[in-house]
Amino acid sequence: MDQIKRRTIKDLLKAHKAEDIGTIVNVKGWVRTKRGNKNVAFVALNDGSIVHSIQIVLDLANFDEEVIKLITTGACINVNGTLVESLGQGQSVEIQATAIEIYGSADAETYPLQKKGHTLEFLREIAHLRPRTNTFGAVLRIRHAMAFAIHKYFNDNGFYYLHTPIITGSDAEGAGAMFRVTTLDAQNPPLNEEKHVDYKQDFFGKETNLTVSGQLEAELGAMALSNVYTFGPTFRAENSNTPRHLAEFWMIEPEVAFCEIQDDMDLAEDFLKYLIRYALTNCIDDLEFLNKMYDEELITRLNFIVDNDFVRLDYTEGIEILLASGQKFEFPVSWGVDLQSEHERYLVEKHFKKPVILTNYPKDIKAFYMKMNEDGKTVRAMDVLFPKIGEIIGGSQREENLEKLLKRITEMGIPEKDVWWYLDTRRFGTAPHSGFGLGFERLILFVTGMSNIRDVIPFPRTPMNAEF
Ligand code: ATP
Ligand code: MN
Repeated sequence: MDQIKRRTIKDLLKAHKAEDIGTIVNVKGWVRTKRGNKNVAFVALNDGSIVHSIQIVLDLANFDEEVIKLITTGACINVNGTLVESLGQGQSVEIQATAIEIYGSADAETYPLQKKGHTLEFLREIAHLRPRTNTFGAVLRIRHAMAFAIHKYFNDNGFYYLHTPIITGSDAEGAGAMFRVTTLDAQNPPLNEEKHVDYKQDFFGKETNLTVSGQLEAELGAMALSNVYTFGPTFRAENSNTPRHLAEFWMIEPEVAFCEIQDDMDLAEDFLKYLIRYALTNCIDDLEFLNKMYDEELITRLNFIVDNDFVRLDYTEGIEILLASGQKFEFPVSWGVDLQSEHERYLVEKHFKKPVILTNYPKDIKAFYMKMNEDGKTVRAMDVLFPKIGEIIGGSQREENLEKLLKRITEMGIPEKDVWWYLDTRRFGTAPHSGFGLGFERLILFVTGMSNIRDVIPFPRTPMNAEF
């Protein structure tokens, strides 16, 4: 078989030139389907570069019967052939094969993706193969585009990417239960005089965990570089089996000096709209596929977000609306409660029918570092609430005053010695600053219209699940 430079299927379908027609091209990919009759076979070939497959036409008289037999769903093949305009619907070009090499066959009896239309639940059990479905191809390409757009947005707006640690010695992040990192012998750990595990003998000479947030370290960066962001994996050991929680997820956390809560909200809204606009411009084939297969409101909803202002509302007013709604909630509402996703979604989907940024939450349900309001009861927190998702962003203005911050950590029982380095930013050249955390998979849930967070990350980590 002649060696010809490989073209991607995306390139051939979307970017072929008039002079390519009639020439011999090469494609490689995985067989999605094969159909035909005793004279001719039509193979739909996909290489993941685009949601569409290219049609390969095989004149059976020109090929070995043994080779033809091995071209089954899931097999990987290498094809040379003439590029021709397609007469079939919806296809711009197809390939009339002149030579075929089988890279890898896939036994029709045992290949799990033999048939179409598997449930998403079933596909989760074969997470090692599900990228080969159109659905996961679409989700993974959108995920890539969003990661790229996030870096682009920040780069274009003068933010620096700060790598914060994954292993943290601080347990004051306060965002949730943590996974311990240790090299001590689990069967027989060294004990100290009080008969507790002696972490002084552990790898780092102290207790360490996987990070639940890069924020505290991001603040250190913002107090030098002004505008920074983190984008990395975060870990939460909560046993929450919901369609919106993972034990390992990715978070984007901008942290900005000289930025008050209003600017923080402006940034969050502009950022989210930019990302959604980016998806609409750059991922439309995949979005159209997902719109057709899973969620016929998807593209309309994405356009709606881009075109409309988010509602900005006080927590207290939000509670009043919920109390007056006459709606029966699983978790009762009163001033001071942490909002559940059912409450958030009521405000967004039923009441305002728009994304909502809720601000000025009670201090008791928020973290120690949030800036206190004059009322002494609420803090300058802001959560962005989205349709179908609930909370997609959580952020705040940070307390920059040393005395007030010390008072808060004492009230909350956080030992000063654990956060001395954080307090130093308030000791030396403190400045007003704000930031937020966007859950990357929550964003991907929203942009793809998928309904379970396990279906927007290649290898989900959830309680009792870390197989692949
Ligand atoms: P929730 O109330 O929805 O559990 P949270 O308030 O605990 O979230 P934050 O600590 O504010 O979350 O984290 C910032 C963002 O990270 C959230 O707005 C959300 O988008 C995302 N996030 C938080 N926890 C998870 C998780 N377990 N899996 C996926 N994303 C998460
Ligand atoms: Mn939050």
